Amino acid sequence: MLDLYTRDSKRGGAWMNPIVSQSALRGTAPVVVNNLNVPQPGEGQPTLLTFDEVTTLFHEFGHALHGLFATVTYPHFAGTNVFRDFVEFPSQVNEMWILWPEVLDNYARHYETGEPLPADIVERLRATETFNQGHATSEYLAAAWLDQAWHRIGPDEKVSDAAEFEAAALTDIGLANPVVPTRYSSTYFAHVFSGGYSAGYYSYIWSEVLDADTVAWFRENGGPTRENGDRFRERLLGVGGSKDPWRRTATSAGATPRSSRC
Ligand SMILES: [Zn+2]
Repeated sequence: MLDLYTRDSKRGGAWMNPIVSQSALRGTAPVVVNNLNVPQPGEGQPTLLTFDEVTTLFHEFGHALHGLFATVTYPHFAGTNVFRDFVEFPSQVNEMWILWPEVLDNYARHYETGEPLPADIVERLRATETFNQGHATSEYLAAAWLDQAWHRIGPDEKVSDAAEFEAAALTDIGLANPVVPTRYSSTYFAHVFSGGYSAGYYSYIWSEVLDADTVAWFRENGGPTRENGDRFRERLLGVGGSKDPWRRTATSAGATPRSSRC
């Protein structure tokens, strides 16, 4: 299911939820939902997505494929029920297809004329992938470090001022820079306290390393062929949390089932 549009009663951001987990034991087929917060178009107008929204859509659809292609026995291990620092790997891999020529040509069409996206715009979009990465990486790492700092507080340690704690944590690693504030301040950093990514916010950049390897593998091995897709589906998406990603053996360490993935 796709719940694309924003509305007053919906929380912000974008995420995927399994509604029914695949399981050979229970004989259940997977049902998943992708949630986004795209503004409603005007009456009679088509829904046109910004490049950021397209990126989010591909990302969340990567989580959806993880859920939909599950082929495990126990629902506890289905789809996105993997280690937290592994879960963003398939979704970030899926972002690779956004500008892949065959895929782009298939979906990025002018809504009135049907013309494909002009090559110079595609080039400019590619060029933006490296733009401002120093800032983006610093603000992300600052947030990931802040997450770790909150989760390292000892049982006897008391924090009375969140802003002070935050400033001290960022000073520790030389990232207390007003020009590059942390992506989320403690008071609205949803991932840290209730979003299920507690002490795991680092997982996005961790998964990006795995993701970069996979993108390189697809590039070196012929791109989006049926054979390559099947291989990725069977070996990675299908097994979910039933195999240890490091050791290729059975694991009992999957994450909490049925939690949402952002
Ligand atoms: Zn995600």
